[in-house]
Amino acid sequence: MTSQPSLEEFTQQAAGWLAERYPKMPRSDQSGFAWGEGSDEVRVFQEPDPVEEADALPAIRRWRQELWDHGYGWIAGPVACGGGGLPAAYQRAFEQLTRRYQVPGDSALTISLGMVAPTIGRHGSEEQKQYWLPRLYSGAQIACQLFSEPGAGSDLAAVAARAVRSGESWRVTGQKVWTSGAHLADIGEIICRTAAGPRHKNLTAFLVDMRAPGVTVRPLRQMTGGAAFNEVFLDDVEIPDSRRIGDEGAGWAVAMTTLGHERSAMGSSSFGGAGIFSTERLIGLVRAAGKDADPVIRQDFAELISQLRLARYTRDVMAARAQAGQAPGPEAALNKIALSDNMRRLAGFVANVLGPALVADTGGWGTYAWTSVVLGAPGYRLGGGTDEILKNTIAQRVLGLPRPS
Ligand SMILES: Cc1cc2nc3c(=O)[nH]c(=O)nc-3n(C[C@H](O)[C@H](O)[C@H](O)COP(=O)(O)OP(=O)(O)OC[C@H]3O[C@@H](n4cnc5c(N)ncnc54)[C@H](O)[C@@H]3O)c2cc1C
Repeated sequence: MTSQPSLEEFTQQAAGWLAERYPKMPRSDQSGFAWGEGSDEVRVFQEPDPVEEADALPAIRRWRQELWDHGYGWIAGPVACGGGGLPAAYQRAFEQLTRRYQVPGDSALTISLGMVAPTIGRHGSEEQKQYWLPRLYSGAQIACQLFSEPGAGSDLAAVAARAVRSGESWRVTGQKVWTSGAHLADIGEIICRTAAGPRHKNLTAFLVDMRAPGVTVRPLRQMTGGAAFNEVFLDDVEIPDSRRIGDEGAGWAVAMTTLGHERSAMGSSSFGGAGIFSTERLIGLVRAAGKDADPVIRQDFAELISQLRLARYTRDVMAARAQAGQAPGPEAALNKIALSDNMRRLAGFVANVLGPALVADTGGWGTYAWTSVVLGAPGYRLGGGTDEILKNTIAQRVLGLPRPS
């Protein structure tokens, strides 16, 4: 048995490994984006979104496989399932390191790794964990989340897609909607109605093969111009019972685990410092637009940065829970609301800074490239649970207010 390296030793080895394989990011850009006057900022937001573009997937899968082969694919996972067995701090240290190198972004795997894998880890049988988790963490399989339906969004317990037992299999018929990345996924975590009994007790979770006969995926065009989510039709699709996650009738608890991780994964990006919330990039934008002396812009900027800082503190509470091995709690709802609020604030701020340059492709630095961010911002209020539903959760589970009668 080899002894655990210290965090310092691990970080040094990992930095060497990354440096051998991937070019360093330009100094001004540890956020994963190229930015700055004279660099091609416009390219940044016009690059194919990996959640939309199948072309981006082979590189992402190669990157994940390479990580997996070298022990970096699931650093904090249990050794029995192929993980590295190291503390969560090592995983975080590695993620921070990767920001310094030009590695393929793996946002296309957020649902796979941030939501479906931890759900299998919590509710799957030992056999399912050992089969699925290495495949998900190595990128060999990509998962999507088949929860929402035309008649079941906020009211998820109203799911109508029906699974009927037939020997050692189930036959599923129904429709799902808003399924992000369904067109790229190999498997989908699906919640189905399996009995007529009381709500919340008649649902069961499965992993469905997205290429099985009877599965039809149709893209839905968004106002950003992209098509990251889909309608999914299931017509008498067979799912072996070995792909049932959790007990029959226990699908509500499985779904709640996934949604907790979804809020946590989305909320983790609510605080800034990197990516589109990068303070440096926003200052660069304000200066390039010649608005740095504008008192209203300065005040809005101060408000945005203050809110990002507050979100960081809540994120730290969430990170501490994860590090202690606890499932995401109600603070994940607070952070998810912070993300949608901060996206709305950011969109308003950028629109005020750019004025008409936001909607006309004049070729000016950092201008038109922001349109898809501004148009995508309202969607954050819905995905992962709407603001209103999350406020209900906070009212009842954090503040202890009574449920409406
Ligand atoms: C970008 C994006 C990606 C998504 N990806 C996925 C995915 O991969 N998989 C998936 O399954 N789903 C996905 N969704 C769907 C998302 O989970 C639903 O949009 C969300 O649950 C809301 O459901 P709904 O759209 O049916 O709206 P509804 O539930 O019909 O709500 C409509 C409005 O009524 C309000 N409302 C409803 N009930 C209450 C109440 N009790 N109290 C107060 N207000 C209420 C809501 O807040 C909302 O404003 C995605 C959505 C978005 C925007």
